[in-house]
Amino acid sequence: KAAPLGSSVIPIVNKLQDIFAQLGSQSSIELPQVAVVGSQSSGKSSVLEALVGRDFLPRGNDICTRRPLVLQLLQTKSKSNGGSDDEWGEFLHLPNNHRIYDFSEIRREIEAETNRLAGDNKGVSAKQIRLKIYSPNVLDITLVDLPGITKVPVGDQPSDIEAQIRTMILSYIKQPSCLILAVTPANSDLANSDALQVARTADPDCHRTIGVITKLDIMDKGTDARNLLAGKVVPLRLGYVGVVNRCQEDIMLNRSVKEALRAEEKFFQSRPAYHGLADSLGIPQLAKKLNQILVQHIKALLPDLKSRISNALVATAKEHQSYGDITESSAGQGALLLNFLSKYCEAYSSLLEGKSEEMSTS
Ligand code: GDP
Ligand code: MG
Repeated sequence: KAAPLGSSVIPIVNKLQDIFAQLGSQSSIELPQVAVVGSQSSGKSSVLEALVGRDFLPRGNDICTRRPLVLQLLQTKSKSNGGSDDEWGEFLHLPNNHRIYDFSEIRREIEAETNRLAGDNKGVSAKQIRLKIYSPNVLDITLVDLPGITKVPVGDQPSDIEAQIRTMILSYIKQPSCLILAVTPANSDLANSDALQVARTADPDCHRTIGVITKLDIMDKGTDARNLLAGKVVPLRLGYVGVVNRCQEDIMLNRSVKEALRAEEKFFQSRPAYHGLADSLGIPQLAKKLNQILVQHIKALLPDLKSRISNALVATAKEHQSYGDITESSAGQGALLLNFLSKYCEAYSSLLEGKSEEMSTS
């Protein structure tokens, strides 16, 4: 039932990639990066992990993410497509594209590599860790896990730690194509949210900021996040999604992402305060929202693709004419193929225009 990030977009992107390949063009589809921002321990790493559907990020109630982690998801061919169902990670800093199949080893390597540069006493470094995750179940997209905003220097942190972290965060989210997940825990005041504040600096019109409210399960008794989620406290153009991630105890007990998603669903069902808000609840809904934004992005690329196809068609038709009678020529077949692709592209485009809703799994 859970729709992991990109599940509904993967088939569209794959087909478009095929069309590009048929056109003999190198260019592929560039999807926007997604970065998480917010204060320390707000649940940023937890949200990213749940979106990817695997456990591999250091998480905890202390500063865990101390260097930017640029996480490139790369789709491989599944077994049913002549590939294999293996999933693995590769770090840029390890030699020979060393493949790590054990995801808890990936986490240990992130921790070790963090320490190598940022020391083991809470130091922070702007130098990236780059990790590629290969899997048949992901979309080719880049996610960025960032250190959280802190105010008081601890351990080896310099006195201007807050300014340093803000600068680091901004260097990622100021890129106009970056989607920002602004993460605020439900047990803190939204009007004081570091996440929304820093997101607004980079994206003043809130065109690319999605609000994520975490920790709905540990709000003060008698309170709920209905008004926050409805945008009645701080309005956001793309709206909010409320989520329940694993707590520290779940992490210690090794509860899996799958179990966490089931628990999250149960939580929302059991709270009358959240009934009728299904559109803004849960990790699957967050994935769906992101997917819809990605579909919009792809839609914007279609006119260019269409004109390239028709240019190629004109060229092929001319070539075809110059061959006179030879109808079975490869040029003729090429024209036929391009014609077919063009129709296909039209069909996709109208599908995206009319019923993008239907392309999302639910
Ligand atoms: P980050 O510093 O923003 O990356 O936050 P983490 O993802 O590392 O999470 C910080 C701590 O908060 C961890 O102990 C998580 O288990 C806990 N946590 C994150 N999200 C939730 C949530 O929705 N509910 C509860 N109860 N705990 C959460
Ligand atoms: Mg983190």
